[in-house]
Formats: sequence, structure tokens, C-alpha cells
Amino acid sequence: MTDEVILCKYGEIILKGQNRRNFESMLVKEMRRRASPNGIFKIYSLQSTIYIEPQNELCDMDAMYETAKHVFGIISVNRAKACEKNMEAIIALAKSYLPEKLIGKRTFKVDCRRSDKSFPLTSPEIMREVGGAILEATGGSVKVDVRDPEVTVTVEIRDKLAYIRAGQEPGAGGLPIRSAGRGLLLLSGGIDSPVAGCMMAKRGLEIEALHFESFPYTSERAREKVMTLAEEMCEFCSRIHVHVISLTHIQEVLRDSCEEDYFTLLLRMFMMRLAERCAKEYKCGALITGESLGQVASQTLAAIGVTDSAVNIPVLRPCIGLDKNEIIAEARKYGTFETSILPYEDCCTVFTPRHPKTQPKIEDVMRELGKIDFEGLIDEAYATLTTETKLVFPEYK
Ligand code: ATP
Ligand code: MG
Repeated sequence: MTDEVILCKYGEIILKGQNRRNFESMLVKEMRRRASPNGIFKIYSLQSTIYIEPQNELCDMDAMYETAKHVFGIISVNRAKACEKNMEAIIALAKSYLPEKLIGKRTFKVDCRRSDKSFPLTSPEIMREVGGAILEATGGSVKVDVRDPEVTVTVEIRDKLAYIRAGQEPGAGGLPIRSAGRGLLLLSGGIDSPVAGCMMAKRGLEIEALHFESFPYTSERAREKVMTLAEEMCEFCSRIHVHVISLTHIQEVLRDSCEEDYFTLLLRMFMMRLAERCAKEYKCGALITGESLGQVASQTLAAIGVTDSAVNIPVLRPCIGLDKNEIIAEARKYGTFETSILPYEDCCTVFTPRHPKTQPKIEDVMRELGKIDFEGLIDEAYATLTTETKLVFPEYK
């Protein structure tokens, strides 16, 4: 009865009213799928908590704990042990389980959640008794500090059993992956777009990715870098289909036919239109980009206005209000930063204009577009689409 379990608390799902059951079952399904490489676990939800219970000695609890921290929809994860719902059992468990969790710590406090209101002791009484037991078991090496403790020990009196846990850590937050539909991420090899994808996955979008390459101006290794990024994102995004479209011919036509200052902007209009077509084919309700206002010439308000005019689908830009430093911090958190800074070329850096337009007028852009066969080039480029699937957990059944 004293096997360790992992308890995951959900975040915003609690606010979901009628739909709550759907969200919970999505979360449990996702957790089960991700747990499978770590051993055989019983996973279920009860009272706003996901319980993860190892079923045999072979289960890798450390790996499972790390896995649980990367599942969107969870706000905190904690290892815990369960016992019978009586004070004798609770005190015995506190004495045997907690001293090792408090090694090297100076202060603690005890919290109590008493969801079973018929339990004979009140929360303050339970807290006092368990606190006393801990002080006794640790021989004075830790002190109580109710204001700013290093470790919070929580005793939960739940429906069937009592649980003791200590050292809760934050989960990934957000909503369960796939609960908000699907979005198509324009994935370059840079820092920003992988972050944008993870941020929208956090809000429940399943991420599909589209990468534009420009072979031979961009290399095979640049493409591999993007595939590595997609694989790294799977740690949070679960599974990503990466579509790749070649822009080589479009870029050559732009170079040969249009005014240089408009290259980037025109290229971005092609990207957006191709992305829109891909989104429709793969049933994505929005495009996602890593743009941040004012970061480069193509990300001024005027330039964004022009690129948006090329499409008729919502464009989500979760990094729009973030500074580069903030985006980098997110990239480190999601584990994509080190790959993003590897120095490979991107199609955006091929034939870059010396003086890109930062305040483009739509009439001028349309005049430049009029010089080429926009729709024909779109059809031709879309025909180059190929797809690779990236995942680090078993495939969805
Ligand atoms: P990033 O770090 O994402 O590369 P960036 O600051 O380099 O961003 P840009 O190159 O202007 O910005 O690109 C803006 C956005 O356009 C990117 O965040 C990405 O969503 C999309 N994008 C740029 N290049 C590509 C590409 N080769 N394939 C797919 N999407 C791209
Ligand atoms: Mg880029």
C-alpha cells in the first residue's frame, strides 16, 4: 500500500463546465500514450487529479515524472505515497516517507486538503500532528516555517485513501493537446517559430508544420535541422507532420522579374498563400508564425498587413509581443534553443534585398505581383509538397 504514485493537478480544465469530461478524457489518453515507454502504469482521473500508478517494479518512475511535466493541461506534478485514511497510518507514512524528501532542506510546512469532509480530524489538527511527526522523525534537522518554507508537505484526505506528497513542481500548464483543433505552423530553422508552435500547442492546438526550402540555395542539412527541431518540439507537441515545399523556382522568378526591395515581402505572400492551401488540405483552422512586431523589416505593422492580405484564414502570432530575450527563454524551456542557433541558411536569407521595404503600400506590392504568374507559381510549388512524420512517443491509435 505504500508504493509511490505520481499526482498531476489539472489547470484550466477545471473551468470547462459541460465539456470538462471531454477534456479530462483527452488528457488521460495523452498521458497513457506518453507513459507507455516508461512501463505499465494505471492512469485515471479523479477529483481534478490525474493519478499515475506503477503496476510493477520495472516502471521507470523518474522518467514518468519527467514525461508528466511536459504534458499540456497539467499545472503541477508531484510524487506521493498513499495510505489508509486513519491518523495512525498517516503518521506512520509521514515518518517513513518524508525524511528522505527533506534531506538538505532547512524549512518546511504542512498543508492539508480534506476533500472527505467526514474525516474525524480538522485540517489544522492534521497539519499539527503530521508536522510534529516530521520534526520527530528528522531529529531537528528541519524547522517549521509557515511563511516561506523550502518544502511544502501536503496531506490529502481523498475519497478512498490519504496521500502524502512533498516538493511539488510546476507542470507545463495550458490545455490538453488537440483539445482546441489543429494549426499549421510555418516552421523555419530559427528561434522564433518553434517557440510559436509550442505556445499554441500549450493552448490546445495540435501542431502540423510547413517548412519552405530552396534547394540548392538552402542545403540538405538546413532541412535536417528543421526536422530535428520538429522532433524536439514533440516532447511537448506530441506528434508533428512536417510538410516541405520548395520555393526555388518562385525565388528565381522573383529575382528575375521584380524590384529587389520587394523580394522578401513578395516571398512572404507566396509562403502565406501556400500555407493557406496546405492548412485547408490538412484541416488546420489557423496558420501560426513566429513573427514579433518590429523584429525585422517584414514584421512591421505595414508589412504584416500586406502579408495577411494574401490569405483568408486566421494567422496566430503568439510571439508578436515578446522581446527576443523572452523568446529565447521560451526556446530554452521547450528545449529547441541549441538546435535553433546552429548556423544553417534559410530560404528567407537567399537573395535578401539590401533595402527591404518597411512601409510597403499594397498598390506597389500588387504592381510587383502583376509582373508574374502568382497563381501558376503557387500551383507549381504546391506540387512539390512532401511530408515526414515526427514523434517521440508511440503513434496515436
Ligand atoms: P524564426 O526564428 O522563426 O526564423 P525570424 O525572426 O527569422 O524567425 P523571419 O525569417 O522573418 O523571422 O520569419 C518570420 C516567420 O516566417 C517565421 O517565424 C516562420 O513562422 C516563417 N518562416 C520564415 N522562414 C520560413 C521557412 N523557411 N519555412 C517556413 N516558415 C518560415
Ligand atoms: Mg527565420
